[in-house]
Amino acid sequence: MARIGFIGLGNMGLPMARNLVKAGHQVAGFDVAKGAVDALAADNGIAGASVADVCKDADFIVTMLPAGEHVRKLYLGDDGIVALAPQQCVLIDSSTIDVESARAVAAAAAKRNIAMIDAPVSGGVGGATAGTLTFMVGGPDDAFARAKPILELMGKTIVHAGGSGNGQAAKICNNMVLGISMIAVSEAFVLAEKLGLDAQKLFDIASKASGQCWSLTSYCPVPGPVPASPANRDYQAGFTAAMMLKDLKLAQEAARVANVSTPLGAEAAALYGLYAGQGKSAEDFSGIIRFLRGV
Ligand code: NAD
Repeated sequence: MARIGFIGLGNMGLPMARNLVKAGHQVAGFDVAKGAVDALAADNGIAGASVADVCKDADFIVTMLPAGEHVRKLYLGDDGIVALAPQQCVLIDSSTIDVESARAVAAAAAKRNIAMIDAPVSGGVGGATAGTLTFMVGGPDDAFARAKPILELMGKTIVHAGGSGNGQAAKICNNMVLGISMIAVSEAFVLAEKLGLDAQKLFDIASKASGQCWSLTSYCPVPGPVPASPANRDYQAGFTAAMMLKDLKLAQEAARVANVSTPLGAEAAALYGLYAGQGKSAEDFSGIIRFLRGV
């Protein structure tokens, strides 16, 4: 049994922490929202009183926070996790944040000789609850090897993407493809509608031809061809437009810092910004087809 400190018990963090408890570990949770801490305690976790409290004596500290600013604030400084963590502890940040913040925090941990990985996830709340998340991991080999058994309790696919920050890089590069491809597939269906081509016919042809991609075959933005896709449930999320916008903005920020031109990524970020700005941020990201249709 390991002692695990878990900070950030939100939509994702709470079910992830519950899976660690279910696996027999001692999990002390902390969140600024007391209700979340109480919810973990009600499920056999331990209610932590503060960040310092859950870091004390921990073998692993997992964080699942909203953004880079929260991660920097919580990890760095005299009363930050890096300063508070026991020497033998492994730090696992699963928040989706900017690559620069991930590398800054990892560098601070390395300075104290404390193992750390960035381990953002895909799979959403459903995957967090079922323990089937995909973890994209950045960090040194030994830190990855030590963290892997813990990640396996919360996820099904664990991929080591390279050094510190590479987990975040993998996540935003993948989601930039996803955002762009969802727009491309949606534009094709809207055009087909105007040309009198049946959506199912386009699906049958494109899914076997060179237009084939995940946004088409697994997450089709029109109702019918893929029964499990959110289009069949009035675009109930799923993966929200707000989350897609967040990841596209992170990709744009990374491209700016690395001086890389990503014009389609920039356009996708702009379109998702407009779409989410129409009061649709909680809708599934595939609902962008309605925005492109002008509805
Ligand atoms: P959330 O807002 O539900 O949870 C974040 C939690 O962090 C909240 O409970 C908040 O109170 C807590 N928190 C913030 N500052 C804190 C602090 N200083 N100390 C302690 N607790 C603090 O967000 P979420 O949906 O759980 O997402 C968490 C991360 O996972 C984000 O980076 C998000 O981009 C990423 N992610 C989310 C999904 C999803 O479907 N929700 C999917 C993949 C990745």
